[in-house]
Amino acid sequence: MAVTGDLPTVGVIGGGVGGLSAALSLLAAGFDVRVYEQAAELREIGAGVQVSPNASRLLHRLGLADALAATGVKPLAWHQRRWDDGRTLLRAPLAEELEATYGSPHYQLHRADLLAALLDAVPAERVHLGHRLTGLADLGDRVEARFANGQRAEVGVLVGADGIHSAVRGLLFGPDRARFTGCVAYRGLVPAERLRHLDLEVTAQIWMGPGRHFVHYFVSAMRLVNFVAIVEQDTWTSESWTDRGDLADALAAFAGWHPQVRAILGAGDETFVWALLDRSPMDHWSVGRVTLLGDACHAMLPFMAQGAAQAIEDGAALAACLRAVPDVPAALRRYEEVRIPRTARVQAMSAGNKTRFHLPDGPEQRERDERMVAGSAAWSFNAAGWLYEHDAGKL
Ligand SMILES: Cc1cc2nc3c(=O)[nH]c(=O)nc-3n(C[C@H](O)[C@H](O)[C@H](O)COP(=O)(O)OP(=O)(O)OC[C@H]3O[C@@H](n4cnc5c(N)ncnc54)[C@H](O)[C@@H]3O)c2cc1C
Repeated sequence: MAVTGDLPTVGVIGGGVGGLSAALSLLAAGFDVRVYEQAAELREIGAGVQVSPNASRLLHRLGLADALAATGVKPLAWHQRRWDDGRTLLRAPLAEELEATYGSPHYQLHRADLLAALLDAVPAERVHLGHRLTGLADLGDRVEARFANGQRAEVGVLVGADGIHSAVRGLLFGPDRARFTGCVAYRGLVPAERLRHLDLEVTAQIWMGPGRHFVHYFVSAMRLVNFVAIVEQDTWTSESWTDRGDLADALAAFAGWHPQVRAILGAGDETFVWALLDRSPMDHWSVGRVTLLGDACHAMLPFMAQGAAQAIEDGAALAACLRAVPDVPAALRRYEEVRIPRTARVQAMSAGNKTRFHLPDGPEQRERDERMVAGSAAWSFNAAGWLYEHDAGKL
């Protein structure tokens, strides 16, 4: 059966942050939802993720407020600093001020804690592991999904939330490789007790220097410090987009940087290295009864910490459109009309931050720093209202 009552059944391909949060938004809107995930077990990598108010308000609405508050850290500020002397360039208040302004908090989370909170909220019988989508067939009033394990499923709507190398995207729009952005990211987690001597403030800190930047913040109820070390490089040769990296390489890339940066990197046990990939905005995300969400359709550089947040917004908007517009293909057109301009704007701003964050020391950098210190740079949090106040669940 593809239809329950008046509402179509929905199949979500991919059980990542985007797929699970979409499943929750769709369930809350009354849809019969199934999630199909290729992995035999749902796991997240050891890294942090920031969840800004535009996403936390949606997760709270889905009943996750207590779970997020249990492990999430609310930073006092967003603190941008110079790579060498640690001088403060911008300190934008988060915590109470942000929460009072936007009505929902900014969290720093371990990715595994976020995934666990989402997974706990989705009824287990709705998640089908070991299902790798390999094919699709348009059957007119429904869609058939075909999996590598030989199973098939018929649904009224199919959503590709299957990440940057999306199979659904390839089946809808043809093969297309994601673009290497010229940046790699070393990521890791350090037990906070190892860094006690640094007396780290509870802020999200971003250190900006020529051709690279370094981000760190507490996660897991302050037990761990997450770091992300971004380095520009010309080529990426590995087949994989995630590999075990070498902390010595990361330390070498940050030679001469402020002692706090080097102490955090030096205290880690391991790091993973990512090629950062992105894509240009797409004109369409949907064909008939099939659509996309998250990295599958708007992969972006993580320089506004918005990839997961935008995927969470997609799910809320998709549920609202499917509720508001009874005809599925028309609802999916409405969904992409609502979402493409916003996600394209975030993609462009994230890409722009690569240049701004990584300026070589010189006149342009000095001008940037002066503007930041004066609090007038267009990309300060003062200018982030359009991003944070948005409620993607309201059309
Ligand atoms: C260094 C770095 C830092 C970041 N920091 C932040 C941050 O602070 N804040 C933020 O909001 N975002 C951040 N992001 C971005 C964020 O991690 C991603 O945008 C987000 O995880 C994408 O979610 P998704 O569900 O679309 O895709 P994924 O998380 O990639 O999930 C896709 C799922 O689909 C499954 N799948 C794939 N193919 C198939 C198939 N054929 N059949 C079935 N299942 C399949 C996969 O196994 C996976 O479980 C960061 C990214 C990076 C690289």
